[in-house]
Amino acid sequence: ATLPYDDGNIFARILRGEIPSRRVYEDEWAVAFHDIAPQAPVHILVIPRGRYVSWDDFSAQASAEEIAGFVRAVGTVAREQGLVAPGYRLLGNVGPDAGQEVPHLHVHLFGGAALGRMIA
Ligand code: 5GP
Repeated sequence: ATLPYDDGNIFARILRGEIPSRRVYEDEWAVAFHDIAPQAPVHILVIPRGRYVSWDDFSAQASAEEIAGFVRAVGTVAREQGLVAPGYRLLGNVGPDAGQEVPHLHVHLFGGAALGRMIA
């Protein structure tokens, strides 16, 4: 289990358009935007529109339709960014040991250079 969802978290505010972001993709299920502090030449965050703190509650509680929509959106963003042939990395932080800072599920999409073998 994780914390209860907080509608004031920064990604909830980005979803509602209360805080600006550089959006690169959006559909019924997901929104993607550039990370404010990029750690690779391409560093995009993909988030579901639904109110999920992390992979934990998303995987346990989201509908099959929401899960499929989100997973498909992540792949679509990578494809649209031209990252499939050169390759890319997906990363998800869950909870304190992983250093998760924002309590709305997000997948980091890294690319644009050889990424080495770091795990963060
Ligand atoms: P976490 O550590 O929770 O997996 O990652 C949170 C990410 O969100 C970090 O890479 C951080 O740079 C990014 N971030 C935090 N606040 C904002 C913001 O207001 N706008 C954008 N675009 N990214 C943010």
